[in-house]
Amino acid sequence: MGNMSEIFELGRDALQGIENRLGMSRRDYLQFCATLAVTMGLPKGADAAVAKAIESAKRPSVIWLHFQECTGCSESLLRAEHPTLEKLILDVISLDYHETLMAAAGHQAEAARKDAMKANKGKYVLVVEGAIPVKDNGIYCKIGGTKAIDLVKECAADAAAVIAIGSCASWGGMPSSGGNPTGASSVADVLGKPVVTIPGCPPNPYNFLATVVHFLTFGKLPEVDKLGRPKFAYSRLIHEHCERRAHFDAGRFAMEFGDAGHRQGYCLYKLGCKGPETYANCSTIGFGDAGENNWPVGCGHPCIGCTEQGVGFTKPIHQLAKVINIYPPQQYPRIVEENGKGASFASAAALAALAGAAAGGAAMLARNLGRSHAAEEAAQASAKPAAVDQTGA
Ligand code: SF4
Repeated sequence: MGNMSEIFELGRDALQGIENRLGMSRRDYLQFCATLAVTMGLPKGADAAVAKAIESAKRPSVIWLHFQECTGCSESLLRAEHPTLEKLILDVISLDYHETLMAAAGHQAEAARKDAMKANKGKYVLVVEGAIPVKDNGIYCKIGGTKAIDLVKECAADAAAVIAIGSCASWGGMPSSGGNPTGASSVADVLGKPVVTIPGCPPNPYNFLATVVHFLTFGKLPEVDKLGRPKFAYSRLIHEHCERRAHFDAGRFAMEFGDAGHRQGYCLYKLGCKGPETYANCSTIGFGDAGENNWPVGCGHPCIGCTEQGVGFTKPIHQLAKVINIYPPQQYPRIVEENGKGASFASAAALAALAGAAAGGAAMLARNLGRSHAAEEAAQASAKPAAVDQTGA
């Protein structure tokens, strides 16, 4: 990483150069860099460092492998509009092997992969999409006659960095659910060493782009948690930044799809939302560059916990989530209280915690939710707005 004052200086000439190369306006380019900097949680002014790194860094060679997956991870990247993937391919990274996107096929494609690995030995980034079957000696997935389990080891041997993109590559994901008939495994398990993981089904493209750009800007991969997930994206629960959180704290829940609470944007916890036990930044950055609220909960669907091993593709959708963090945030969007009498959920939970019993807090939570549920059903039965009495009195 270079000198900070130097790295934060980005001249007009450099901007003009990248503007010409990317074929996008200076404003759009800087907006893209600012978005990535914010996604990474970098301080004010870091967008200039990001812009400078993209402008001046040699494009890293990227080898992108596909195994047991639906290609949704690549599809989600195609939906990143700032810049579009083809601009990313041509100007930010050198995508030397990607089975879905490359024009070459068969022996020509495999030769391109080997050539890129040889020419960039020790410097290329290996991206793996999809789980790797290990059962029955790994015979359930072959690319060009080579088993996935062998191919990933071969490609990882001389890689500068390995990124597992999507839940399948991160921890087995969908192919590992149920009886896991093929022994679908994560990249880290197969390689026997930690790798950076970007789980999600699909993962947010900005989390991948930000990880690659972090590598370009600082010469190293971002800090990760114990599951290999970049902390800038996966250090907080979805529940902590959900726009429906105020309704959760007020005890207002949608009880079934399409009911009055659902139509009014109430919390989806009782419809099985796994936001309280799922770490990801979906609620803060959204998906697909389609404007605010473009993420599952924003569209009225409970979070299924796709970024969380043991939750996504494991817990039934209507099973209530384990509430890991029972404390309300310091700040959350204002709501108009429809019924504010009695002790709040927050104060009840805090009292339980003060009494030194997390389990007590959970019990308090369950009791309050149950009472809220009963009160809400009574309110709906009398055709009134779904007001909730936290105390159950
Ligand atoms: Fe949002 Fe789900 Fe938490 Fe409700 S339970 S506040 S919908 S994340």
